[in-house]
Amino acid sequence: MPSVRDRGHSKRAGAATLPSDGRANNLSLVRRTLHADGAMSRADLSRTLGLTRVTVSDLVSDLMDRGHVVELGQSGAVRPGKPAILVDINRQGLQVIGVDLSSESDLRAAVLDLDGNILERLERPVGTATGQAVVEQVLELVAETAGRATAPLLGIGVGTPGIVTGDGVVLTAPNLGWSEVPVRELLEKHTGLPTLVSNDADAAVHADHTFGGGCDDEILVKIGRGVGSGVIVGGRRARGAHSAAGEIGHVTVGTDAGTLCVCGRTGCLETWMSAPSLERALGVAAAGEDPEAATAVVYQEAGERLAIALAPVVGVLDLAEVVLSGPRHLLGGPLLDAVQQTLLARLLHQDPQPVTVRLAADPQDIVLRGAAVMVLWNQLGVA
Ligand SMILES: [Zn+2]
Repeated sequence: MPSVRDRGHSKRAGAATLPSDGRANNLSLVRRTLHADGAMSRADLSRTLGLTRVTVSDLVSDLMDRGHVVELGQSGAVRPGKPAILVDINRQGLQVIGVDLSSESDLRAAVLDLDGNILERLERPVGTATGQAVVEQVLELVAETAGRATAPLLGIGVGTPGIVTGDGVVLTAPNLGWSEVPVRELLEKHTGLPTLVSNDADAAVHADHTFGGGCDDEILVKIGRGVGSGVIVGGRRARGAHSAAGEIGHVTVGTDAGTLCVCGRTGCLETWMSAPSLERALGVAAAGEDPEAATAVVYQEAGERLAIALAPVVGVLDLAEVVLSGPRHLLGGPLLDAVQQTLLARLLHQDPQPVTVRLAADPQDIVLRGAAVMVLWNQLGVA
C-alpha cells in the first residue's frame, strides 16, 4: 500500500530548517546508506552514520512502517550476545510518482519503478484552466496517481515549465498562469510524500543522464511550446545563481534583428526553434512556389541559430553531447544535421570531433522519467 500520511509540512521558501527536516534528512541518510552499502545490522548502521543505536532503531522502524526498509534475517557474523538482524532497503518493492506539466494539452502523471519503467499513467486535459484551477487539478491528479501505486512510494518528482527555486516554488510559468506557486509545499501537504520540483528541461536532462545513456557533460535542449535546456557538468546538474541555468529560449541569437518574440524583443532563439515557430515557418514554406527548397531553408536556419547559441556554451564547458528532445518529425534529419555542422564549424577543430549531437530517446516520457530520477537521487543517492 502506498504510504500516504500527513506529516504536517509547513516549510516555506527561506524559512529556517525545522526539526522535522532533520528527521527527514536522517531517514534519507539511512535509505541512501543501505542502498549504497547493502544490508547491515542496526548496530552497523549506527556506527556508519555516527548516530545512537536508539535513534537508528527508531529511524529503521519508521522506514519499515513505510515499507522502505525490510528485515532480511540474522547476520552470519559470530558475535557475543544475540545474533543481529540485517536490514536492507526494500529493493524490489518501491515506487515513485513522476509528474509532467510541460505538455500544452495535458497534465500527466505516472507511477514508475526504480528502473524508470512506467507502470501506470494518468492524463488530464488542461483545457483553458490557469492559475489556481490548474493547481487544484494537479493536486487531484497526483493524489489519484498515488492511489494507483502497488508498492510504497518513495516520493514525487515534478517537471514544470518556468523557473523553479530550490524549495520547489515555481516563480513564473506563464503558460500555466502561475506566479510564485509553492508546488512542493502544496503537494507535500496534500499527499504527505517528499516532493521535488524542477524545470521540465532540467528533469529531462536527468532522465537522459540516468536512463538515456547520456554522459557526465551534456546539454539537453527541450523544444516544445518554448525552448529550454538542462545542463549536466561533471555529472551534476547546473542550477545557476537564480535557479535559471539552461534558460536559453529568450537569448538573442545574432545581430541581425529577427522577428518579434512573445517577450517583446526580437531575435530570441524561440522565434526560430520553438515547435510553434517551426510549424508556422514550415507552413509558409509549403504554401510557396518552391516548397522543397523553402522547407530546407527553414530547417537550416533553425539549426544554425540553435548551434550559434550553443557553440559558446559547449566550448566554455567542454560539453561532449548536445541532445535535442522534442517532436521527432521536426528535429530529426535536416535540422539535426544543421545543428551538428554549424556547431563543429564554430568550435575548435579536434580529432575525434569534440561534441556529438543526437536526439533524445523517448521524448514523450522524458520529463516523467526525469522527475522520477530526481526522487531517486534525493532519497537514495542514485544517479
Ligand atoms: Zn523572447
